[in-house]
Amino acid sequence: MSIVVQKYGGTSVADASKIKKCARRAVNTAIEGHQVVVVVSAMGHTTDELIDLAGEITDRPRSRELDLIMATGETVSTALMAMAIQSMGVDAIAFTGAHLGITTDNNHTKAKIQSIDAERIRSELAGGRIVVAAGFQGVTPDGTTTTLGRGGSDTTAVALACALSSNHEKAVCEIFTDVDGVYTADPRRVPTARKLQRISYDEMLELASLGAGVMHSRAVMFGRNYGVPIHVRHSQKPDPGTMIIEETPDMEQVSVVGAVLTPDLGRVSLRKIPNRSGVQSQIFKHVADADILVDDIVQIEYGDRVDLSFTVEFKDLADIKSAVSKAQEELGGEMAVEVGLAKVSVVGVGMRTHTGVAATMFKALGDAGINIANITTSEIKISCIVGKEHGEKALRIVHDAFGLDREPQIAGKMKAEAGAFAVKSY
Ligand code: ADP
Ligand code: ASP
Ligand code: MG
Repeated sequence: MSIVVQKYGGTSVADASKIKKCARRAVNTAIEGHQVVVVVSAMGHTTDELIDLAGEITDRPRSRELDLIMATGETVSTALMAMAIQSMGVDAIAFTGAHLGITTDNNHTKAKIQSIDAERIRSELAGGRIVVAAGFQGVTPDGTTTTLGRGGSDTTAVALACALSSNHEKAVCEIFTDVDGVYTADPRRVPTARKLQRISYDEMLELASLGAGVMHSRAVMFGRNYGVPIHVRHSQKPDPGTMIIEETPDMEQVSVVGAVLTPDLGRVSLRKIPNRSGVQSQIFKHVADADILVDDIVQIEYGDRVDLSFTVEFKDLADIKSAVSKAQEELGGEMAVEVGLAKVSVVGVGMRTHTGVAATMFKALGDAGINIANITTSEIKISCIVGKEHGEKALRIVHDAFGLDREPQIAGKMKAEAGAFAVKSY
């Protein structure tokens, strides 16, 4: 008997009849002899509506109170899901993040899970109940409600699957959503995108960090760190979905598996600051204190001065400006802020061994007359900053240039290995 954690996203539990359908799947899984934990998101667009409601009261709500209101969405879903399961004749019990001892740091609206008390869940499962857990929410050691960042119910699900796994038996983690797996690009943006049968943790982590909303990036990190495979599936269709797994040797045969658009970026520059040791750490200390993710860091030095710039998501621009102005007060120089940027990236573990990936990307964008404002690379990713107005087109062009709409050609032996990989389904 294995433990199966099933997460149902907002669209999948948007109304009572959809909740009942998901409950039926959970019940069937239990009837097949598995111990089942169901993790639920808030219904439909509830989280957006709660944020808008707070916005009608004040334009800068405190994050502590925002967490308190946002967490109610998932709490409602847990009670309804438990009731739906109970009405099908199977015992179920609903829990909030606090009930389950999902302890986080106190970084409101983007808290990180520090520990989970798996014993509570284990004893309920042993008692023959389906456990229904609220996604997205946790609690600080002093009992204050936190949330894990938008899309964070994925992270609750994978973290619970990790906490319920042992070295010899991994829990199964299924992410049920409104798309039948992970695609080569967001299918809403690229109609020719192709569903992937499997993808490595590292590739999914890059795609998720760059904005592929199908998975929360911290969820992928948990799966990778604890070796728990993540199975992404459609909540209303029988499709086998996509497995997010440890890298296998054949994966390096494919140079690019996916493309992603980060649609709305700003760039912050500190110009004419002193060219001496320690200035970078002085700037990034303030950035770290504000807990904002920055990317695409570029530094240009000339004589005794340097210019340093980096990108942030547009939503973080106000907070980053106040963090950087603290550095500016200490270092002097000028601060400049640009908006209207986007980033298109391609990802694949095969980049480690294939040449010409950058050349293909630059040629495709160049032929389309799209100017590249900056380039950054990692071992398995190439990103180009472009004007926001070119973002969607750039994504489609790059997707085309790498033939991502077509099944990649894998050498004979490797292909056999790939085919031997079996997807477990319930
Ligand atoms: P849920 O509410 O179930 O968590 P999300 O809206 O968070 O669902 O994630 C599913 C959505 O992610 C899809 O509808 C799709 O538009 C988007 N998405 C972005 N990138 C990808 C991708 N590479 N593959 C599949 N879906 C993607
Ligand atoms: N309800 C939260 C959100 O909309 C968490 C989630 O759905 O994963 O971001
Ligand atoms: Mg999601």
